[in-house]
Amino acid sequence: MNKTDKIYVAGHRGMVGSAILKRLQADGFHNFVLRTSTELDLRNQAEVNNFFESEKPDYVFLAAAKVGGILANDTYRAEFLYDNLMIQGNVIHAAYLNKVEKLMFLGSSCIYPKLAPQPLREEYLLSGKLEPTNEPYAIAKIAGIKMCDAYRSQYGCRFVSVMPTNLYGNNDNYDLHDSHVLAALIRKFHEAKIFKRHEVVVWGTGNPRREFLHADDLAEACCFLMKFYDEPGMINIGAGEDVGINELAMLIQDIVGYEGKITHDLSKPDGTPRKLLDVSKLRNLGWSPKIPLAEGIRRTYSDYITSLS
Ligand code: GDP
Repeated sequence: MNKTDKIYVAGHRGMVGSAILKRLQADGFHNFVLRTSTELDLRNQAEVNNFFESEKPDYVFLAAAKVGGILANDTYRAEFLYDNLMIQGNVIHAAYLNKVEKLMFLGSSCIYPKLAPQPLREEYLLSGKLEPTNEPYAIAKIAGIKMCDAYRSQYGCRFVSVMPTNLYGNNDNYDLHDSHVLAALIRKFHEAKIFKRHEVVVWGTGNPRREFLHADDLAEACCFLMKFYDEPGMINIGAGEDVGINELAMLIQDIVGYEGKITHDLSKPDGTPRKLLDVSKLRNLGWSPKIPLAEGIRRTYSDYITSLS
């Protein structure tokens, strides 16, 4: 990648896309082409084709997707499948037609089978049944990986897929119905502290384990891989360690400074019991994360407070 190359970051206002854009800017890239979702509906094939024909980007980070936490995935099953299939189908095909130099597709660790051995190695893809709560999202993301591979083998496109673990950071979604656990708990503990509530409700048993990576670390890994990785299949991007949801809740409680108690809503789903990525492929290439979980949560909490004012 040269500093003058034209880079399209799809989804640049989201948590992941904004972190990638910030990282690229810090690295001296300056020739960006960006569109908000109101300016360009990536589900619309004609709009996407027109955009690629007129802008002709050299590099594409495909970080635009319909995303959400366990309840959103389970509730809006049709949207998670349709929106994601359309977005990635349109962008990947237009990137091929318009001779994009390289495209990076961002997936998710939920593509792995629910009961696959841990940590999850890249070759476990399609070796068993998926977790039902987010199956539509996972199926769409698996189709994206296969699309990149098919365009690579049939047309020689340099399209790569990366699979990030659960992410958190600035510009996250704090809507309690749609968000992921870490953002939801930051908000719940903060509001419980401010409004002097007696308890904070954690969904499910709190026993599942999840791995969390700060979006700034992810962005750094994506920029690194855009330069040095060019293979079919995919590569995991994770922190290399996981934490129980109860443990996470206590950590956030401590950082926020809330003194009430934690209770559980067992009517909410636990989801997959554990989702820890094997990151040896990425480490062997020479990249590892920099932001420890507690430090990342402190930063995110401070960004959350700033966003309220
Ligand atoms: P997942 O990794 O796809 O399951 O997505 P989430 O981040 O939404 O959920 C991770 C785990 O945290 C699940 O076991 C949830 O039940 C649990 N959890 C506990 N409290 C909450 C909450 O307030 N919001 C969300 N989204 N998940 C929660």
